[in-house]
Amino acid sequence: MAETYDAVVVGAGVVGASTAFHLAKLGGLKVCVVDRGPVCGGGTAKSCAIVRSHYSVPSNTALTLRSLEMFYSFPDWLEQTEADAGFVNSGYLIIASEGDFADKLRGNLSMQADVGAETFVISREDARDRHPLLDLEDAAVIGYEPNSGYADPYLTTTSFINAARAKGTVVKSDCAVTGLIEKAGRVTGVRTQDGELHAAHVISAIGPWTRTLTDGLGLEIPLEVSRHIVLTFRGAAPYAPDLPIVKDLTTANKMYCRPASGGVVLVGTGDHGDPVEHPDAMDENVADDFVLHQGGQLAHRMPSLAEARLTASWVGPYDITPDWNPVLGAAPGLDGLTLAFGFSGHGFKLAPAVGLALAQQVLGREPDVDIAAYGLDRFAEGRLLTGVYGVGSIS
Ligand SMILES: Cc1cc2nc3c(=O)[nH]c(=O)nc-3n(C[C@H](O)[C@H](O)[C@H](O)COP(=O)(O)OP(=O)(O)OC[C@H]3O[C@@H](n4cnc5c(N)ncnc54)[C@H](O)[C@@H]3O)c2cc1C
Repeated sequence: MAETYDAVVVGAGVVGASTAFHLAKLGGLKVCVVDRGPVCGGGTAKSCAIVRSHYSVPSNTALTLRSLEMFYSFPDWLEQTEADAGFVNSGYLIIASEGDFADKLRGNLSMQADVGAETFVISREDARDRHPLLDLEDAAVIGYEPNSGYADPYLTTTSFINAARAKGTVVKSDCAVTGLIEKAGRVTGVRTQDGELHAAHVISAIGPWTRTLTDGLGLEIPLEVSRHIVLTFRGAAPYAPDLPIVKDLTTANKMYCRPASGGVVLVGTGDHGDPVEHPDAMDENVADDFVLHQGGQLAHRMPSLAEARLTASWVGPYDITPDWNPVLGAAPGLDGLTLAFGFSGHGFKLAPAVGLALAQQVLGREPDVDIAAYGLDRFAEGRLLTGVYGVGSIS
């Protein structure tokens, strides 16, 4: 028999979890979250979960600042004393060598300050004081954000889900949605492997899998999926958990590093990544030459890690739109359906604020951060949110 809710959120990654929680918190809605797998079993589980406000698109910075407020007051915002995002306020350093990116970095730092971010240029000496492992000989500009850090993606997502549950939300895991129920331009629910779920509002938050539900609905969904590799290395001494995150714009693949549990350093890339035909068919292998390449870049930036050993590797999907920014909001021409996809490798930090803004929009309220510019029709109308750093998740 069909079940009826006020809202059905498809996808229990960090975006779906945050949206469900905010729908329940702000509107008191009867919400159902449905995922084909476990909670936090998709791209969020592979995330490096860095929360930095450095962007060149001002609204991305505004969303991150709103998310940061939530990370800093997580149990209060979630109204659950046990809620824990695992957030570590390590700070964030971003490095560019002389040239194009140096100018862009300077310009973006002042733009972000205008949006309200605490971020500024620091000297090599100051950067070395904050992160003594760094060699900064080739650094022309170094930006610093004292309030940024990194979180735990699993803890964050499950905390949102638990807080939503405490407000009456029903969570169905291992329950694939097989299609949307649509008639005469209105979506009224979803079909699942276990029956129909009816709702006035359906929120699709299934990231790389979005087209598996939207194809055939007449929506033009510009979405590519790519594969990203994360490595962890252990040096002779433990990598301290409070060392600032490092974004190295001098590297072609826009390498970034952050501390990870167990005294290792986690290393990822902010580039396009390898194209993937389908997110369920991602090659999990990590080539030795990639490990050597990343290890070499790491040793260039932190010479004391030249002898570091690889301790772990994994791959995860980016769901990429043409401007490397997400699609958020009502599906054009389809009442009842809200879209949230295309986070292009930087959705973890946006998710708390995005879930709030989407819930506010669904409830007919003014969002804390305006997300109107993120609508799907921006592609057809040529209003892209393209950042200045070119291809990549820094946007
Ligand atoms: C390697 C890597 C590193 C990253 N690092 C960062 C970072 O440092 N900072 C940052 O801000 N962002 C980062 N990101 C990006 C960020 O993690 C993602 O943008 C974010 O987690 C996406 O969350 P989501 O909820 O949209 O998608 P997902 O977590 O992928 O969730 C989608 C869910 O939909 C479910 N689903 C799919 N199809 C169906 C169906 N038919 N029925 C029901 N359920 C379905 C899936 O099972 C999944 O649980 C990184 C991403 C990767 C891959």
